[in-house]
Amino acid sequence: MSPQSLKIDHARYVLTVDGQRRIIQDGSIVVENGRISRVGKAAELTRVPADRVIDARRLVVTPGFFNGHMHISYAHPVRGIFPDDVGSPLDHVFNLQAAMTEEEEYHASLLGILELVKSGTVCFLDPGSTKFPDACLQAYEDSGIRVITGECVTDVAGRLNLPRYSVREATDRTAGFIAKWHGRLQGRVRAWAMPFSPETCSADLLRALKRVADEHHTGLTLHHGSGAQARTDYHARHKTSPTGYLESLGVLGPNVVLAHALGVDETEIDAIARTATAVVMCPVTAAKGARGVGVNGRMPELLAKGVKVALGSDSPNNSNHLDLVRAMNMAAIQYKDARQDMRQIPAENALEMATRVGAEALGAGDDLGSIEPGKKADLVLFDTQRPEWQALFNPVNNLVYNADGRSVHTVIIDGRVVVEAYRQSFVDEDKLFAAVQGIGERLLARTGITFPRSRWPME
Ligand SMILES: [Zn+2]
Repeated sequence: MSPQSLKIDHARYVLTVDGQRRIIQDGSIVVENGRISRVGKAAELTRVPADRVIDARRLVVTPGFFNGHMHISYAHPVRGIFPDDVGSPLDHVFNLQAAMTEEEEYHASLLGILELVKSGTVCFLDPGSTKFPDACLQAYEDSGIRVITGECVTDVAGRLNLPRYSVREATDRTAGFIAKWHGRLQGRVRAWAMPFSPETCSADLLRALKRVADEHHTGLTLHHGSGAQARTDYHARHKTSPTGYLESLGVLGPNVVLAHALGVDETEIDAIARTATAVVMCPVTAAKGARGVGVNGRMPELLAKGVKVALGSDSPNNSNHLDLVRAMNMAAIQYKDARQDMRQIPAENALEMATRVGAEALGAGDDLGSIEPGKKADLVLFDTQRPEWQALFNPVNNLVYNADGRSVHTVIIDGRVVVEAYRQSFVDEDKLFAAVQGIGERLLARTGITFPRSRWPME
């Protein structure tokens, strides 16, 4: 149901994340034809009628959340299978990914999307994991979520089982993918160039894909990391740092999003800032993956230089959850601990990265990311009638430090209510959960990938 006009009335707080970062107590929002037309004090908008009114007296309203790096394909059916002591599961990850069938990927994606929207995410970027976008389009359409998708390509042989093509073929495939997918579902689907990483793609391929992204006025994302060892290696091979290498190829810029970006030094941060390149960081994955945020995490320095930093969850076998509220929490607390300085990454910065700044990083800042007239109506309504929301004085602190995505009550995307009072209507959840469990069991049996189910005896 998408009524012509919708009013969210008497919200306990509206966290606008607008230019002034206004927080409106007893606020109302009017939505017309999918866009926000009015925002203000409820008392000022009492005379504004709407086809439908949501009573938000017990709710806190935020802009919808952006997940800037989230491999959606294979992981949900086997989530939790890797024991902590296995070390890196990456070899298995890409073998499982390669074994997914079309129908399996559809169900896995639908479950991922269900988890995303129910915890307030309105847009996610899948860095080219989806093998069968035709099959998954139905899930994107039914759920109403926004998707940035693409085809993962490489042209250098490596340890991981990644799709590999010639430069020509990878470039043609990317251009074809963008031509087919960009702008589908009334613009809710965007298609980008998605080389896996600078290590798995030649300089020629990276340059060619950046050209494709530029020509189609779209984006490019790739995995990127640095650090002392990587700098030594890159200096030996390319006489520059990993980030300097990308800049020398012309593969930095406002339409490029570097995923992870751990270990970058001051010179590399300057290159990222100078070229207006965006970054997505996955704080939970970094912590769980023992990536050494204390040494390698440079989120405060990137933000201080004005770099647009989005948050991501990475694969559901890295962070394991897709909850951007928990990602905000981790971003806000892990730098305080790493730097032994409580002033690092205030709660407000964490919320900005999940909303306004995240939208800007993903090239959607003109239309999305804040609650202000003219923007598309992507809104999350949090239920404050829960113990973790008590007592409520500073809603930003309560959101980032007390709450998680389970207090998401209602989600609106493009003016359409996709989750209402905790319920959605695009999928039968019991049936989906049973289907995905069966897919996981069959996928493990088919690939022969096994791990002890638990470190404890299971009877
Ligand atoms: Zn990734």
